[in-house]
Amino acid sequence: MARFKTNAVIFDLDGVLCDNSQQLHDYMGDHGEPVDTNEYWADWYATLPTHPPAEEYITLAQMLRDGDNEILVVTGRRIHLKAITDRWLLDWDVEYDKLYMAPDEDGSFHTSKESHLRDIVQHYHVKLAIDDSHHWCDLYRRYDIPTLHVDRGLRTIGLMA
Ligand SMILES: [Mg+2]
Repeated sequence: MARFKTNAVIFDLDGVLCDNSQQLHDYMGDHGEPVDTNEYWADWYATLPTHPPAEEYITLAQMLRDGDNEILVVTGRRIHLKAITDRWLLDWDVEYDKLYMAPDEDGSFHTSKESHLRDIVQHYHVKLAIDDSHHWCDLYRRYDIPTLHVDRGLRTIGLMA
């Protein structure tokens, strides 16, 4: 007998629920490439608690949650940022069901979302995944998950080429 799976929607945090477009803009050159990634990340960590919410996506998450979907926040943020991340989600009234973060170990960042996803699809029927990274959108598509790519017209920094 087929096991019942709960409906769920995956939301990325940085670049989706959390609007990092001003910060990306501040560190981009004229051709959309990062000017200085070290400065970008230093600023990103230093200002983390005050990053603004993307209210349109927080509203969308609430609507989907009201429609009986669990909201899974799947972020590349490492686990040592959990307290600050919990606080941010609480401050901006983001209602969600589970938060998946990357482990702190070196090298695990690039595989963290996929390892979470392998577990997620065992337990959930994922109706949609929303991410601002082409890299992670490609991952979700490989799992046949309908995917919405958030494009603010700025390239993200890091592996998100
Ligand atoms: Mg992102």
